[in-house]
Amino acid sequence: MRAQLAEWVAGQWDPGMSLREWRRLLASSGWAVPSWPQRWHGKGMPAWADDLVASELIRLGAVGTPVGSGMTLAAPTILAHGPDHGRERFLRTILTGEQTWCQLFSEPGAGSDLAGLSTSAVLDGGEWVINGQKVWTTSAHHADLGMLLARTDWNAPKHRGLTYLAIPMKQPGVLVRPLRQMNFHQSFNEVFFTDARVPRANVIGEVGDGWKVALTTLAYERRFGAMTRPGYDVRPGRALDEARAEAADHFATYTWYPQRAGRVDLIVEHAQAAGVSDDPAVRQEIARLLTIQHASRWTAQRAQDARAAGRRPGAEGSIGKLAASDIARGAARVHSRIAAAAGLLSGHDAPFDGTIAEILLSVPAQSIAGGTDEIQRNILGEKVLGLPREPAPDRDLPFTQTRRNG
Ligand SMILES: Cc1cc2nc3c(=O)[nH]c(=O)nc-3n(C[C@H](O)[C@H](O)[C@H](O)COP(=O)(O)OP(=O)(O)OC[C@H]3O[C@@H](n4cnc5c(N)ncnc54)[C@H](O)[C@@H]3O)c2cc1C
Repeated sequence: MRAQLAEWVAGQWDPGMSLREWRRLLASSGWAVPSWPQRWHGKGMPAWADDLVASELIRLGAVGTPVGSGMTLAAPTILAHGPDHGRERFLRTILTGEQTWCQLFSEPGAGSDLAGLSTSAVLDGGEWVINGQKVWTTSAHHADLGMLLARTDWNAPKHRGLTYLAIPMKQPGVLVRPLRQMNFHQSFNEVFFTDARVPRANVIGEVGDGWKVALTTLAYERRFGAMTRPGYDVRPGRALDEARAEAADHFATYTWYPQRAGRVDLIVEHAQAAGVSDDPAVRQEIARLLTIQHASRWTAQRAQDARAAGRRPGAEGSIGKLAASDIARGAARVHSRIAAAAGLLSGHDAPFDGTIAEILLSVPAQSIAGGTDEIQRNILGEKVLGLPREPAPDRDLPFTQTRRNG
């Protein structure tokens, strides 16, 4: 496979071409995501082929697929649930990077209780008309399309009246308002829909089956919890410049995400710089943290191997997500211990460039985004340990008769 790919790249890759031109070639060849079916821009290969090809493309000096939730969340969801005309319409522009996506799930009254959402979609001729509000929508300010979960049947039980729609974001009925976070960054938004329009054909899966479709997106979200920025160690040229600009634009939203994960990588260096690396209590805490981090890497490796073997995302995603929260909180504690009160100072003249303060203000997000710790524990309890389901007395009642948040 490596030899075939190398031969194809040698014949096609020209660093002087535009990024779009290159990605279109990549998508047409089936090498962009080789595990996808041949009919849908892939080669029908086993799942392990994707990681291999991604790393080989870098090694060969060529640019790979785009970064962002289009690739990690929308594409696998659309591929899994269809329908075919949706796959036709959306998959290729995700692969080429021509259209970017955001995830419109959470609402002021529906986060953990996502199935309790109340944004409504009503069919009017050839279009769905959308009214309601979403919140915490990362990257909504520059997305072309949104993965929208909306209520289409108010008389069905709450999990059964939902529909998953691909909504065009750049239209008069969609108002995106940025939210300022306590760490001073601005990566998510409130999104208001006032008679916004979605073509009837933009339903992903079936009308009324949106909960099942959303569970696929959520499983992929847990799996792709850790974001890696592509190295782009490739030969200079137009395609590379454009890929770098695309990645810079995308990652501008996420500059604080390494701090959110606790910056374990800085701990030993900071302990040495602060002269506390021989303090037995500090050493003990650092050792504990690094141990959990190593064990959690092995869990992530197990998840990656499961994926390579072609299995759908499983409980490893929840285990990994819980471990990431534990590591982030542990790292914040050790950083505070090392920096003491000076860790509260922000700005570039503060110790360690103000990174410690940013870590302390960013770490709480780790255990909330993509489903809170408690929700991951519920999933593990029910799905892995086989414990009784969480009581939900109104699960089978019409949505209009259920108790709701907010
Ligand atoms: C950095 C970040 C990025 C995000 N990006 C997006 C995005 O792009 N798109 C999007 O749609 N959303 C996004 N979110 C929102 C995120 O999915 C929600 O914040 C999350 O699901 C929790 O919902 P909530 O904030 O409404 O809290 P709530 O659901 O109100 O929870 C409050 C508290 O109650 C606990 N709780 C709730 N229910 C239970 C239960 N059944 N059992 C035990 N404890 C429970 C929770 O664990 C939590 O501690 C993002 C959030 C963050 C922090």
